[in-house]
Amino acid sequence: MRAIAKARPEPGVEIIDAPEPTPGVGEVKIELEAASVCGTDLHIYSWDEWAANRIKPPKIIGHEFCGRIVELGADVEDRHIGQFVASESHIVCGHCRQCLQGQAHVCVNTKILGVDVDGGFAKYVVIPKDNARPTDESVPREIASFQDALGNAIHTVMDGPVKDQTILITGMGPIGLFAVSTCKALGAAKVIATELSPLRIELARQVGADQVVSPIGNDVAAEILRECPGGVDGVLEMSGHPSSLSLAIDVVRPGGRISLLGVYSDSKQTLDMDKVIFKGLRIQGIVGRKLWETWDQMQDLLKSGKLDLTPVVTHRMHYTEFHNAMELMKAGQAGKVVFFFD
Ligand SMILES: [Zn+2]
Ligand SMILES: [Zn+2]
Repeated sequence: MRAIAKARPEPGVEIIDAPEPTPGVGEVKIELEAASVCGTDLHIYSWDEWAANRIKPPKIIGHEFCGRIVELGADVEDRHIGQFVASESHIVCGHCRQCLQGQAHVCVNTKILGVDVDGGFAKYVVIPKDNARPTDESVPREIASFQDALGNAIHTVMDGPVKDQTILITGMGPIGLFAVSTCKALGAAKVIATELSPLRIELARQVGADQVVSPIGNDVAAEILRECPGGVDGVLEMSGHPSSLSLAIDVVRPGGRISLLGVYSDSKQTLDMDKVIFKGLRIQGIVGRKLWETWDQMQDLLKSGKLDLTPVVTHRMHYTEFHNAMELMKAGQAGKVVFFFD
């Protein structure tokens, strides 16, 4: 079968011929319908320091996908042939302290699809059955494909109160946009977004942001405090930009929460600890999706029809056009790019 792979330890990815995989004990084989490109795939494509240290080529890439189960491995009883499923990219061990205490999203033995093991940018993929999440047939396949990323947004949003709250979301990449839509669906009183790129500012408005502030030529903190005197109830930091982190601490109200999903290129950041302590802030790092609470919340939200995610899908392509997809993403010219495998 044909697959998109990191074949050699150098920039780029290519289409390779790979053997069709066979499901082992506890695994299922999925025939792909759609897949979505993630920022992680871009790191792998560009072969930056993180990718070079982590990935052992050859590896089939891709961890956001959906499709139908076509074969069951031994001992799989709660999945069936023909079932519509989507990928959870974190393969967890099930026996470390975190896994045993309902915190499998921070399992110390996590392996990531398309990073540590072969991923799903291929006609067929084999994954553990728990990682194949049953998805309602009413969910369009282009949206079903990126539930791994949508789950990041839902995990971040639901890290604290949302209903009737004022929420600031910094950074309108796809996950920031998903978070806007999720906050609106959950009844947030007001959602303010920050973003630089004109394309993404427009997308933020389309998914329901009440106000979008660009840092270019604006005093962002002053604008936010004018909209929400006394500060916002919660901040979801999605940009990974240091100035957004200090903005979050400045504009959140005393007693508010800051949920951090964005990753900083320099992970050592300086915080104004007087503000953190004397405002009594709760600052929480967010990683992955809660297994499997976030997935249950996500299925309910998707079935409710209240999430408006279609504007985020800016490009739909055949998977053989992956070079084009990577370049668009690199240039910041895309929201979500979805591949089809027909
Ligand atoms: Zn991803
Ligand atoms: Zn574990």
